Amino acid sequence: ALAAALLATGCGGEGAGGGVQGGGTQEPADTRIGVSLTSQDEERWLTDGKAIQQGLEELGYQVDLQYANNDIPTQQQQVDQMITSGADLLILAPLDGTALAPQIQAAVGADVPIISYDRLIRNSADVDLYVTFDNYKVGSEQATALLTGLGVLDEQGQRTSEKGPFNVELFGGSLDDNNATFVYGGAMEVLQPFIDDGTIVIASKQTELSQIATKDWSQQEAQARMDNLITSTYTGSRKVDAVLTPNDAVARGVITSLRNAGYGPTLSSEGKPMPVTTGQDAEIASVKLIEDQVQYATVFKNTKLLAAQTVDSAVKLLNGEEPEVNDSESYDNGAMVVPSFLMPIEVVKEKNIDEVLVESGYYTAEQVKAGQ
Ligand code: BGC
Repeated sequence: ALAAALLATGCGGEGAGGGVQGGGTQEPADTRIGVSLTSQDEERWLTDGKAIQQGLEELGYQVDLQYANNDIPTQQQQVDQMITSGADLLILAPLDGTALAPQIQAAVGADVPIISYDRLIRNSADVDLYVTFDNYKVGSEQATALLTGLGVLDEQGQRTSEKGPFNVELFGGSLDDNNATFVYGGAMEVLQPFIDDGTIVIASKQTELSQIATKDWSQQEAQARMDNLITSTYTGSRKVDAVLTPNDAVARGVITSLRNAGYGPTLSSEGKPMPVTTGQDAEIASVKLIEDQVQYATVFKNTKLLAAQTVDSAVKLLNGEEPEVNDSESYDNGAMVVPSFLMPIEVVKEKNIDEVLVESGYYTAEQVKAGQ
């Protein structure tokens, strides 16, 4: 680790890399793993951080876990710091897919393997592994859930006789996050035929990702954009029937806006029922909203399993072994197709909260009831 630190600061000799790729003699207790995640404001990233740290520490590794507070320069500094203090491996969830280029270069110079965690590091040919969920499928499942919530598809995904037209608005994730593009792509593939045949009407006409994106996937930004859409587009008797919301934070912002505009309180309220919304992450506050029939669905991504897979991959890379890969074609980052491991996802609606989230031990029944 010290050698890596020296190299990273330009004081080391050739070939004295601190990473043990191909070697494997370094003890876990002498091995430092830097973990850089996006922000502490979102429950999901706290769960990720805790699970990665615990998993690595149980195996005896030293862990330097940092959150970047949704600020790119902060993340750059934190990763710089990890390298100069001798990290042997980096696990990075980049805020901006392209912004860590200098850090990646320094890490590679110091022979430090890099795992791209959940979010793709872009434009770098030096990413050893990408561990994530099937982000495209997250989007297509959200769109399918939306159509099911409207009654256009049945639970088996078959088209019903329900023809609409339904007023739908679209929200996307953060433009700097590669996942946002994949989630959007998956959703639009499913929705487009229904838009084309008039079953679904995007009354605002905002359908491009650049028009519907939500900076930092922020709940407040989403709420503000929904407020604007309601004022600009949903005047008179025109009502919103569904909103494609790409994660739980965005869904909660949109739901708050809709509530303030007199929708709900639930999906089956008289007059202006709460529109069908979708989500991602199964954050506890949203699970409670689903239980209370306010939010329609979310996509559960078991981040504890993602963390476990990442820990396992980190150990393999540190020991010079090949980490597990199950996808070698989906994630072209602009400089390489990154060998990836995609974890499975599951749609959660009111009827399967217990089965998917409680019986699996992810949440207790009390947590679901309390929403925290
Ligand atoms: C993650 C989502 C998360 C979003 C906002 C995405 O990159 O895949 O799970 O909701 O970031 O943090």
